[in-house]
Amino acid sequence: MARSMLNLSEIFYSLQGESTFAGFPCLFVRLAGCNLDCAYCDTSYAKLKEGSEKVSVAEVVERLLKFKVQLVEITGGEPLLQPATRELVSELLRCGFTVLIETNGSQSFVGIDSRAHLIIDVKTPGSNMSDSFNYDNLILLESHYQLKFVLVNEADFFWSLEFIKEYQSQIGALKIIFSPVIDTFAPARLAELMLDSRVKARLQLQLHTLLWPDSLRGR
Ligand code: SF4
Repeated sequence: MARSMLNLSEIFYSLQGESTFAGFPCLFVRLAGCNLDCAYCDTSYAKLKEGSEKVSVAEVVERLLKFKVQLVEITGGEPLLQPATRELVSELLRCGFTVLIETNGSQSFVGIDSRAHLIIDVKTPGSNMSDSFNYDNLILLESHYQLKFVLVNEADFFWSLEFIKEYQSQIGALKIIFSPVIDTFAPARLAELMLDSRVKARLQLQLHTLLWPDSLRGR
């Protein structure tokens, strides 16, 4: 039974802001605990399990059903650290939800229902966590998964181009997102670099930071 319990940071309803689903009203399940320490982390309150709520998978599903919203994202922290996340994904799919999982790319995808949409962060050198990527997952990529590069600076942009080139055969036609950290990398400069390079990726600005710049959580 312990396997079915989750460390929950928060559940909230907002707009999806960091994938090809950006702009859609979406439920968020933020799980507590993370194995990384990214330079730009904006959810430090969810990095530790301390202060989180222990909730069963069934209880989380019950709370979500009350919103009557069909799109749900499981995020963190790092959601794949918790064994019960896989059970939560399956249960949400069984209930008819479209399920997104935002992961930092360090944990194995084995055992995750492949109908879920994984949004996989590839950590760049500017995050200080670029050694964390789990390369074994490259053979488990599904065509509906998405790769996201959060770019701190121009060096991250060129590093990402190299990554895409090197693993092109495994990445295939996956959708690729470039998201600048706007405090350190002007979006207009990234746009110029993308146009010049002809990279097949889309530029994305974090919707929630544009809409609610002062909100620390629940958005
Ligand atoms: S993976 Fe996400 S939650 Fe973890 S430190 Fe990095 S940005 Fe923060």
